[in-house]
Amino acid sequence: MTVAAILNGKGRDVIAEKSGTLLSGICKVLAEKGIGAILVTDDESRIEGIISERDVVKAIGRQGAGALDLPVGDVMTRSVVTCVENDSINDVMTKMSQGRFRHVPVVKDGKVAGLISIGDVVKYRIAQVEQEAEHMRSYITTA
Ligand code: AMP
Repeated sequence: MTVAAILNGKGRDVIAEKSGTLLSGICKVLAEKGIGAILVTDDESRIEGIISERDVVKAIGRQGAGALDLPVGDVMTRSVVTCVENDSINDVMTKMSQGRFRHVPVVKDGKVAGLISIGDVVKYRIAQVEQEAEHMRSYITTA
């Protein structure tokens, strides 16, 4: 199964902000949308960085509440690992576990085309395990 199959199920809309957005604004969006990370993009939807709840906690832990007045561009991770629609889910799982992060943006023609979270991957894995168990059950009962 590929990244495209997950995107076909969940959609391709991605929540993104500009690098000048203050960290307080990022927290508001994270809370309102119930998500764990936001992409930071330029005017052409090219990825400039990613900010996750972990970065927010780190910034406040280091600098105190004043960090909330920083632009997200000062706090985000700039070197973003991405994938393409034809990548397998296993590829994405490998990227997440090697990079120790829970979000992988999908890129098409240099622009953001979706976002895969660890929750999406877990959902896919559970469906896959259930399907394998079902195949095994029907094999045993018809053998
Ligand atoms: P997360 O586990 O996604 O909350 O992110 C943990 C850390 O990895 C944070 O510092 C994020 O900014 C960073 N991060 C998240 N996703 C990616 C990614 N796809 N590529 C590089 N860094 C990332």
